Amino acid sequence: MKPFDLQRADSLTHATQLVAPENARALAGGTNLIDLMKLQVETPGRLVDVARLGMTQIEDTDEDGLRIGALATNTDTANHARVRSDYPVLTRAILAGATQQLRNRATTGGNLGQRTRCYYFTNIDQPCNKRDPGSGCGALNGIAKLHAVLGASAQCIATYPGDMAVAMAALDATVEIAVNGGNTRTVPLRDFHRLPGDTPWRDNVLAQGELVTAVTLPAPVGGRQLYRKVRERSSYAFALVSVAAVVDMAEGKISRADLAFGGLAHKPWHNPRLSELLVGKIPSSELFDEAADLLLEDARGYGENDFKIPLVRRTLTAVLAEATETEL
Ligand code: SF4
Repeated sequence: MKPFDLQRADSLTHATQLVAPENARALAGGTNLIDLMKLQVETPGRLVDVARLGMTQIEDTDEDGLRIGALATNTDTANHARVRSDYPVLTRAILAGATQQLRNRATTGGNLGQRTRCYYFTNIDQPCNKRDPGSGCGALNGIAKLHAVLGASAQCIATYPGDMAVAMAALDATVEIAVNGGNTRTVPLRDFHRLPGDTPWRDNVLAQGELVTAVTLPAPVGGRQLYRKVRERSSYAFALVSVAAVVDMAEGKISRADLAFGGLAHKPWHNPRLSELLVGKIPSSELFDEAADLLLEDARGYGENDFKIPLVRRTLTAVLAEATETEL
């Protein structure tokens, strides 16, 4: 690990000032950043410890939603009574990720900011445009089992590795961000993470000097909430494919279908046309096939990850069948 300067922020404004320099990183639970520093994938000159800024509360909003502080641990969020009762897809997604020990340390903000698990990104001897811009992409003609089939670019085919944010995308959450200078701004979670394009080193829309302060969930919508994660082993593995679904029925027809997908792209994948297709229709295997066709119309595999395309089709069909109690 390379030497770095450790600073402790004593206020939010102080923290945004401290993280403003290009080589500064905020440190919360440290479950991803410290690992990357040990591998010399991340070599910040300054770490800003934000752990004493509070931001651990999970509280009701005036709109009957829920505001989850950026430093609330994943364990506290998953176990919160209102999350369990009103947003169970979020509890399920968090509990599908990592281990209990990691969830005890990992935070809301840190989870959103976690970096790809692309093997070439975490090996400094390999080319990687995300870690070392202009060096190439080792995964394009290499080991790409975990990699994207949607929204990739010629520069990078990495996936966002998290589960929590996939559920938050299905729930249409909003990210609150503190801006250097004391202001705040909000971004729909569905727009928080980026596609790689020509700048794959930028994972999300946070600018240097900005910090996530909370994620707000809208008022609960009811319906069936499912999170299905397909992975190579039953725990402590990243999603090959995951589906978060908030689905409701009225008079035999689908009245709500908010879907988001993990393991497919550089961000939690949400296609609003899926909801438009499904809502108002009687559920059937033909309809679910149509939804999968729509989801995958621009999908492309890179050899090793070709299997994801039929896998996400089957997973989406199974989730929709369970959520609508449809016999296939
Ligand atoms: Fe790097 Fe992205 Fe290519 Fe992986 S897929 S090697 S993260 S540029």
